[in-house]
Amino acid sequence: MAASGTLSTFRLPPLPTIREIIKLFRLQAVKQLSQNFLLDLRLTDKIVRKAGNLTNAYVYEVGPGPGGITRSILNASVAELLVVEKDIRFIPGLQMLSDAAPGKLRIVHGDVLTFKIEKAFPESLKRQWEDDPPNVHIIGNLPFSVSTPLIIKWLENVSQRDGPFAYGRTQMTLTFQKEVAERLTAGTGSKQRSRLSVMAQYLCSVQHVFTIPGRAFVPKPEVDVGVVHFTPLTQPRIQQPFNLVEKVVQNVFQFRRKYCHRGLGMLFPEAQRLESTGKLLELADVDPTLRPRQLSISHFKSLCDVYRKMCDEDPNLFAYNFRDELKKNKRKNQEKEDDRKSYGL
Ligand code: SAM
Repeated sequence: MAASGTLSTFRLPPLPTIREIIKLFRLQAVKQLSQNFLLDLRLTDKIVRKAGNLTNAYVYEVGPGPGGITRSILNASVAELLVVEKDIRFIPGLQMLSDAAPGKLRIVHGDVLTFKIEKAFPESLKRQWEDDPPNVHIIGNLPFSVSTPLIIKWLENVSQRDGPFAYGRTQMTLTFQKEVAERLTAGTGSKQRSRLSVMAQYLCSVQHVFTIPGRAFVPKPEVDVGVVHFTPLTQPRIQQPFNLVEKVVQNVFQFRRKYCHRGLGMLFPEAQRLESTGKLLELADVDPTLRPRQLSISHFKSLCDVYRKMCDEDPNLFAYNFRDELKKNKRKNQEKEDDRKSYGL
């Protein structure tokens, strides 16, 4: 492990190109694993520049593949780079990079969805939450099928200050399908405003830093790619448990074209729906005829705060799920229908 606090400027020695590495180690992309590689080192340098100043930083790269972004990170004078790659075929090529950057690159053959980064870097890097972000960064170009569930998991970690955020407000620079990047950063009223926008923006400052055209990848994906930078906020804009915020936001956006009272109503059992929804909206001071995408983070804050109070008053409320009630009603109706038929009615 590189010694913490040692300032270094470092450039990798001349190496085969990424294209040559792919040929040398027969690293053809596996379509089922949505592998799309970046071969242009100017683009990988740009992604890494957008992560901020990495001098002497500890960086966690997720899904390095043939190592394009990995090279750019190593050239940014980091103290240490830890990469986690699931596909074993990439390990020998990454080992070649490790040999070219002695003591700087740690390679883990594993899965980012289960890897515990909170134990991987020195304790001394930890910062108080309110301090400036620690010198720890996450960077990655993952398959879209992994990056979306992973960001939800990491947002929950931000809210609990654990996982990668045990070090403090660790910054992340990640790629997403362009539409997802737009949703993550969409402001109040915008067409792309969605559940992801609210969940990301109540916890982080989120920036869509640039778009990479699909043609820059090999093989070319069907969509363009957005690079998104996240910095956790010192104070979350909604101070309620993640699963409560998620429940309110999810209910609102399930009827995204209707007035917001429609989705909010589903937080309550049918028998009390009208009354409780009215109470929630009134106490939160939210206009029931706003559409979900017109709700700001402060609207969501008021809704979550009032819903929390209602849950504290009625301990069964949080566990209520309207889909279970629907299923139960359907079953009851079916039984009635079966009874009617058996009596020949
Ligand atoms: N970072 C490389 C680049 O930009 O050229 C590769 C990008 S490719 C879209 C995604 C990489 O993530 C692949 O190497 C794939 O094997 C790896 N990967 C996919 N799922 C993973 C997981 N759950 N954990 C670790 N790596 C994963």
